[in-house]
Amino acid sequence: MKAGDTESSVAFERYHVNVGEAPWKTRLPKKFRVRIYNNCVNIQECVQACVYNVHRVSEEGKLSEPVEELCRGCHRCTLSCPKGAICVELNPEFQRLGDSYFTPERIENIFFEAETGRIPVSGAGYGGVFAGRGFDGFWFDFSEIVRPTRDGIHGREHISTMVDLGSKPCMLVFRDSRLVSEPPRLVEIPVPMVLDAPLSSSSDRNLSLALAKAVSMLGTFSIIKAEDYFDDLSPYGFNLMPRVNPDRVIEFPWLIESSRIVELDYKEEMPAEEEIKANLRHVRKLNPSAIVCARFSNLNGAVENAEIAVKAGVEVIHIHVDDSIVKHNPDAIVSTIRKVHSHLVEKHMRNEVSIISSGGVAEAAHVPKSIILGADAVAVGLAYQIALGCKVCYSDKHQEDCPMRIEDTDVSLASQRIVNLISSWRDQLLEVLGGMGLREVRRLRGELGRAIFYRELEEKVFGDSE
Ligand SMILES: [Zn+2]
Repeated sequence: MKAGDTESSVAFERYHVNVGEAPWKTRLPKKFRVRIYNNCVNIQECVQACVYNVHRVSEEGKLSEPVEELCRGCHRCTLSCPKGAICVELNPEFQRLGDSYFTPERIENIFFEAETGRIPVSGAGYGGVFAGRGFDGFWFDFSEIVRPTRDGIHGREHISTMVDLGSKPCMLVFRDSRLVSEPPRLVEIPVPMVLDAPLSSSSDRNLSLALAKAVSMLGTFSIIKAEDYFDDLSPYGFNLMPRVNPDRVIEFPWLIESSRIVELDYKEEMPAEEEIKANLRHVRKLNPSAIVCARFSNLNGAVENAEIAVKAGVEVIHIHVDDSIVKHNPDAIVSTIRKVHSHLVEKHMRNEVSIISSGGVAEAAHVPKSIILGADAVAVGLAYQIALGCKVCYSDKHQEDCPMRIEDTDVSLASQRIVNLISSWRDQLLEVLGGMGLREVRRLRGELGRAIFYRELEEKVFGDSE
């Protein structure tokens, strides 16, 4: 502490993450192919026309080979060439990246964000769709400004992206000025994002290590399957959230004792309230202060599952919709978060739990969109694995031919890429909050009025006639 600093000025520190250039060992295919035909007469109009420096002149004064990596596909060069000697086209190899959900453009953005920690700029306006399913079926509404917009990233004003995981009591009971009710079980994370456990792969240990290092820099959590835990992770225990099969809690006493949050994995079947209570007792016996998160992926019973879990005394619920389901039915994740949140609000139970949602999180905008639907935080899964070279794998493990490999020497680079990705997504969240004039992300939760739903708008304008 410097002389003159008061305690409060030291206690308040603005959240800051060190991003740094982190190019991955493999590159994505170039988006565009730029070809110069034989009828080029070296007029070099294209050199003047291109603002991205794709076309250059060699030392001999001749036109060099175009630098395709820099091309943004604006076609100024093709228009400027009086001979029509330039052809710019999409690279078919680029178009084969990913699939219909994790599109080539989304993969390109994830790679850019992980490499630089910056926000990708499309250059020529919004390039995405204006209507669609799932997260594409609604947009942010910046029109309802009750306060001036705020300068998010560059920050003359502070916007908080901190959220709580845990249960907030309806009231605190004091007797003789002393708190007699149980203190709230809450953990604060500075970004509304945690990292979901990766799919299984041959580079598990190095990947887990990279994740652990990344979350300790970010101050958030990485979910790790209890059976995958190994001793090298112990320095990062503060930021790990072990996922345990509820029947196997007693097999991992050391892990439960040292964790702030424990995730019980109920998969499809949510048991009866009494059984969940028994599972909770097992956890609490090992670690009385642990926050318990119940994860489930049963879509049809999501609302009932959530209610049972809250009644049983769970403090966090993790609604997971498998990426492969979201790929075929993008509405699945959107409707599930919305239904669970509004049901818990109706039942006056919403503040007794925090909601983490995961599945289909493929771009930065999906974080504030999940929060608008009612989640407190989002678990990022496949996206960070794509940032490390995964070719977009589904199910529970990476495919045989998936190029994601994290060697011993790659661990620091991999963790920097994850830090960059989350930091870039946080900056984009700040842009959204700033645009809406919101001072903290907690205020965005469940604020459906901050979004415009394509389907509702269509019905309003055209009626419900088919
Ligand atoms: Zn993969």
